[in-house]
Amino acid sequence: MIAENLARLKDRIAKKCEIVGRNPGEIRFIAVSKYFGTDAILEAKKLGVNDFGENRAQELMLKFEKIGDKVIWHFIGTLQKNKVKYAVRTAEYIHSVDSVELLEEINKRASSLNKVQKILLEVKTSFEESKSGLTNEEEIFKIAEQAKNYLNVNLIGLMTIAPLTDDEKLIRKSFRDLRLLKEKMNNAGINITELSMGMTSDFEIAIEEGSTMLRIGSAIFGERDYSKDWRQI
Ligand SMILES: *Cc1c(COP(=O)(O)O)cnc(C)c1O
Repeated sequence: MIAENLARLKDRIAKKCEIVGRNPGEIRFIAVSKYFGTDAILEAKKLGVNDFGENRAQELMLKFEKIGDKVIWHFIGTLQKNKVKYAVRTAEYIHSVDSVELLEEINKRASSLNKVQKILLEVKTSFEESKSGLTNEEEIFKIAEQAKNYLNVNLIGLMTIAPLTDDEKLIRKSFRDLRLLKEKMNNAGINITELSMGMTSDFEIAIEEGSTMLRIGSAIFGERDYSKDWRQI
């Protein structure tokens, strides 16, 4: 099933890229494997997928212990300060930095591992209460400037989750706002290149709006069983 899903997905990505005149090679494809076991990850890897996304630090640790750095791990979930050490130990990219405190802790942990941690700032581009992420532009600029002072973090871009809605206009606006913010930051001398946006239900709009990192789960692995305990994965 994973093979067919992947083939179909790659095809849709390629078609959309062709329509908007983008090179699929410039878009990093992250398979979001949360709630799925290492068998599924290894199967996807065999089919050429190298990037995997997880949203819980302990689940990522568990999988990392089994698979190690044969694949590239992305941490995409809400990160608590006391879990930073797990994310830094395992993930090449942390997409969900949303405070100076987190930035500082990541720098500290990365420093003790002699690592430069690639990070993105999570921006809330929707008005949903449940979503996390930064909303204040001044604060976003402040964190980005602060990141320049830390030797063990490398701020490479911005991440967002679009609102959960059927209204395509709202989804597009959310992605466009992220792109415009990136351009504004670039103009202010903040050298970021990545836009992590687009999931199963909205990745085609994200490609149109300039996404460079797609985070796609269910279109590859199928529906998630949320009743499953991650320790059993
Ligand atoms: C689960 C998750 C995804 C993938 O969602 P799908 O709808 O399964 O593609 C992407 N980004 C984040 C932050 C997630 O938690």
